[in-house]
Amino acid sequence: LALIELKNITKCYKIGQIQVNALNGVDLSIENGEFVSIMGPSGSGKSTLLNVIGCLDQPTTGTYKLGDNNVEKVSDWQLSDIRNQFIGFVFQSFHLLPGLTALENVELPLIYRGILGKERKKRAIEALESLDLGDRMHHLPTQLSGGQQQRVAIARAIVGKPSVLLADEPTGALDSKSSVNIMSVFQKLNQEMGITIVQVTHEETIAQYGHKIFRLFDGKIEKIEVLNESLKAI
Ligand code: ADP
Ligand code: ADP
Repeated sequence: LALIELKNITKCYKIGQIQVNALNGVDLSIENGEFVSIMGPSGSGKSTLLNVIGCLDQPTTGTYKLGDNNVEKVSDWQLSDIRNQFIGFVFQSFHLLPGLTALENVELPLIYRGILGKERKKRAIEALESLDLGDRMHHLPTQLSGGQQQRVAIARAIVGKPSVLLADEPTGALDSKSSVNIMSVFQKLNQEMGITIVQVTHEETIAQYGHKIFRLFDGKIEKIEVLNESLKAI
């Protein structure tokens, strides 16, 4: 059952007279519960593709179905509704607010959803505890390691119970030990909570944690590799 289905997606940017085709006819189908990796050289369209999947940006042409929604047809406000309902984001550079504690950072998306104080705090604590951060809740981002900051960012991404977690180079700023830890977190979220995961990475060892690797070249998917067994958590 496809949760994410892109057909013949293009994305063109016009800069003056010059037109850049960042995506050039992408067909992509991701099932509910899959964990997939997107790889490709710099400039091949990985971030653009992730932005389209994440409803941050609409395609120039083509169709995109996310659950029951025909994303290419909706208005901007509907797009942000769909994004809030379905998607959690994780970035290379964490994007935590520096003046807020781990707990306050994780509460943020729930504030935007109008969930009130006590319930909000309870859910944020649960999310942090599920990521082994129960003893770091009142720390500021600067008082946490890179790996811990990324786990706070993941807690913030999943606290609203999204169907899909999108990660743009989630281990790009981390050493190899923390990177493996983040991959075991992803495996746990995928296997135990059933969250569909789509990650962009340039590291083969990180890509191998997925069930499939989509290889992107010049805005097109050139190859899909199905992995027999993703790496086991250490
Ligand atoms: P990747 O993530 O694989 O490095 P990107 O999706 O960032 O690739 O970029 C794909 C192509 O689209 C590149 O040629 C890039 O310069 C261009 N591009 C991306 N975003 C924009 C933008 N906002 N305006 C103009 N060109 C863009
Ligand atoms: P990197 O993790 O490689 O530094 P960024 O996280 O800066 O990359 O950006 C990845 C994409 O996500 C960009 O297109 C950016 O505009 C978008 N983005 C970054 N932060 C947010 C956010 N808090 N909410 C929504 N979109 C974001």
